[in-house]
Amino acid sequence: MTNPARPTRSEIFTAYNKARASARKAGNVKQIERLNKALGILLSKSYYEGEKATYQPTYFTCGCKDWQYRHAAKRAYTGGCKHMLAESLLLAIAERRANHEVTSWVLDPYSRHVLETACSHA
Ligand SMILES: [Zn+2]
Repeated sequence: MTNPARPTRSEIFTAYNKARASARKAGNVKQIERLNKALGILLSKSYYEGEKATYQPTYFTCGCKDWQYRHAAKRAYTGGCKHMLAESLLLAIAERRANHEVTSWVLDPYSRHVLETACSHA
């Protein structure tokens, strides 16, 4: 059974396509590389129990080596690692959902209750 709390493939692809389009527009090749990896990890079932649990990424910081050495000259890019970009995509999906429906996999139980109550009377 699929977990309704997790974003769907379609939501992941929509957020990814949008992020890739803006990275492409900015000519940010290194970011596109990481966005491709971010897409891969979000689509993998093991991400949440594996790397996400290990590195505890948020959209502004991460515990992995790529982010740790972000100022290294040979990296040639100071933007977010694939985990942070994955988190940004999740955030974009959550914001998108918030405009349409309950973001049950992001909100705490209290906020969820408030929203569900509000939505059921809509
Ligand atoms: Zn990372």
